[in-house]
Amino acid sequence: MSMPLYEYRCAECGPFDVSVSMSEVRPVTACPVCTAESPRAVTAPRLGRGPTAAMRILESTARTASEPAVVSGAVPGRPRTPPRPVTTDPRHRMLPRP
Ligand SMILES: [Zn+2]
Repeated sequence: MSMPLYEYRCAECGPFDVSVSMSEVRPVTACPVCTAESPRAVTAPRLGRGPTAAMRILESTARTASEPAVVSGAVPGRPRTPPRPVTTDPRHRMLPRP
């Protein structure tokens, strides 16, 4: 459940977001930092951090376009990675070195 975020603007502390249901949104609310009455900024209510989600979609789309060869299975031309490196046994690290 996510409620819309409303942006308010404190004269001292700057903008802040308040998440309230649409029926409870008020034109003025207390700043969470200094508790001063702060007027609501004139922006449309948004869900989450507005532009970020869209930017993430754009990024992932670009990434998919630039790396189309990510498929399961062996990658041609690249040697198979061995299941595990030879010396990961922690006991080996405790052996005295020459
Ligand atoms: Zn404030």
